[in-house]
Amino acid sequence: MRFNRLRTWFSNPAAHADWTIRAGETCANAPFVFPTDGYIGFIWGDSFRPGHRHQGLDIFGGEAAGVTPVVAAYSGYVSRLPDWKSSLIIRLPEDPLQPGRQIWTYYTHMADADGGSYISPEYPPGTSEVYVEAGTPLGYQGNYSGDPDNPTGVHLHFSIVLDDGQGSFRNELEMRNTLDPSPYFNLPLNAELNQGEVPVCRE
Ligand SMILES: [Zn+2]
Repeated sequence: MRFNRLRTWFSNPAAHADWTIRAGETCANAPFVFPTDGYIGFIWGDSFRPGHRHQGLDIFGGEAAGVTPVVAAYSGYVSRLPDWKSSLIIRLPEDPLQPGRQIWTYYTHMADADGGSYISPEYPPGTSEVYVEAGTPLGYQGNYSGDPDNPTGVHLHFSIVLDDGQGSFRNELEMRNTLDPSPYFNLPLNAELNQGEVPVCRE
């Protein structure tokens, strides 16, 4: 279902403006602002192949790579590992929904198919613990997949990652190390619960 709707979106994004979120906006009293513009094509728990479950959100801007801005969803401390071409992670010392625990927000696919980064020059590889406010520009959506011959569709992958208890983040690739983003955005972003609704703010 979400595959088919994504195809419809890509065929004419302008015709489906009512499916989109806008960077920096929030739904109701959600703690997080939206980290980019576009259609949330895949949500937390979606399965792309047997045995796989998606750990985050894929937000498709509907524009070329390097065009659609990405911003911080919540204030925190930006780090970028030395070998990260397309990714940033932001440490949130206090989970706004569970004070007392530290969590992380992860942003990726911010590079072109060949690995040319679209991350803002303020955050070069090796960046550690740079404070940013919610809404601060981080870079632009890209299509980097690691394989130049098979880039992804242009999007931002965003996820909320658990702390390892020793001041670092757990492996984001494992679903069990991530959190359901629904309450952080006040949107139906859990695939088990949302079978077919477009995740946008309702009046
Ligand atoms: Zn993704």
